[in-house]
Amino acid sequence: MHANVVIVGAGPAGLGMARVLRDLAIPDVRIVERERIGSSFRAWPKSMRFISPSFPGNAFGLTDLNAISFDSSPGFSAKREHLSGAEYASYLEQAAAAFGLSVITGVDVEGLDPDGDEIALHTSGGEIRADFVIWAAGQFQYPSDGSIPGAEHGVHSSRIKRWSDHDGEDVIVIGGYESGIDAAIGLADAGKSVTVLSRTPAWDSNDTDPSVALSPHTRHRLDQALRRKSIKLLGDADVLGLERIDGSVRVLTSDGRSWASSSQPILATGFAGSTSLIEEWFAFDNDGCPLLTPQDESTEFPGLFLIGPEVKHRGHLFCYIYKFRQRFAVVARTIAGRLGVDTSPLEIYRANNMFLDDLSCCEADNCLC
Ligand SMILES: Cc1cc2nc3c(=O)[nH]c(=O)nc-3n(C[C@H](O)[C@H](O)[C@H](O)COP(=O)(O)OP(=O)(O)OC[C@H]3O[C@@H](n4cnc5c(N)ncnc54)[C@H](O)[C@@H]3O)c2cc1C
Repeated sequence: MHANVVIVGAGPAGLGMARVLRDLAIPDVRIVERERIGSSFRAWPKSMRFISPSFPGNAFGLTDLNAISFDSSPGFSAKREHLSGAEYASYLEQAAAAFGLSVITGVDVEGLDPDGDEIALHTSGGEIRADFVIWAAGQFQYPSDGSIPGAEHGVHSSRIKRWSDHDGEDVIVIGGYESGIDAAIGLADAGKSVTVLSRTPAWDSNDTDPSVALSPHTRHRLDQALRRKSIKLLGDADVLGLERIDGSVRVLTSDGRSWASSSQPILATGFAGSTSLIEEWFAFDNDGCPLLTPQDESTEFPGLFLIGPEVKHRGHLFCYIYKFRQRFAVVARTIAGRLGVDTSPLEIYRANNMFLDDLSCCEADNCLC
């Protein structure tokens, strides 16, 4: 099979990107998806909710923060604020159908290679060839154990469906950003006593960027849980490793402290990201983030673009939907330009604050891009 553009992954990034290419009438755009539309969201813990609000202000030029297009709204679609993963996946399915996007499900992309002027994608369903590949395979399905020695004695937070299913009454959570605090609140709601070990106290940060500080939604939930006194927060605990001793797991920190737990510690240590699957086709910065051109193309592999939460420019992470969707039009303009396609339909994206091509705002200390 050959396509002009293959997008890998049918999450908000892949579908939102396909919608922009559709608006430019770029022919033969295929989305290749390992499972089904929105599968990362279907794998979220049952109690987890969106932290970013979903108010439908679209008609006034204030697009729902979690929408993948300026004319749709997950909040309006689900008649809910702070949607669950399943509710959001349902919105994505409706959007793909309404926009007429071509999604091939059940095909796992295992790797890719340049081949002459084309790119060959090696998939579970055979080879697919494309002129351009847009990598939109996300982060959630590629967890990181934070390179902590002995991490196999813990369990990553993304692997737990229901906090009440986790064994033990006293649970240690390693990591104090969104996933770690969400786990702590869920475990406390399930009647457990929780100790959160974090290198820095993200819950006290005054940073204005929600990629660095806790969202107000989570902070509010945390305040309510702290009143019940079942969560202990330690914001100076740099975890060195985990060891199994007899029936319990010991967690050691760099200052010599240790905690023993009969329950498996929960690793809220973030995500390696899906570029780990094709790492030979990117150069990476000192933080392990892929290096991109100002058009979000790999610096190592022309024709390979990255969209979604792994995009980073000038130190700023585009890890929320309202951030990374602003780069779809930039990628679309680049591909359209190379194909000789008219890019004037993209003006509506600029009018709706969904076209961030001037990265100079990312220089500011308080960048809110
Ligand atoms: C726990 C958590 C909570 C978050 N909460 C919010 C929030 O409240 N608000 C917000 O704006 N952002 C949030 N984010 C950040 C971000 O919006 C999500 O990570 C979002 O899922 C990213 O969208 P995506 O389309 O890039 O990836 P995904 O939604 O993960 O979609 C990627 C798709 O690619 C498929 N795939 C993966 N690998 C392959 C492969 N090799 N071949 C074929 N298909 C493949 C997957 O099956 C999946 O369907 C959260 C992130 C996490 C991890």
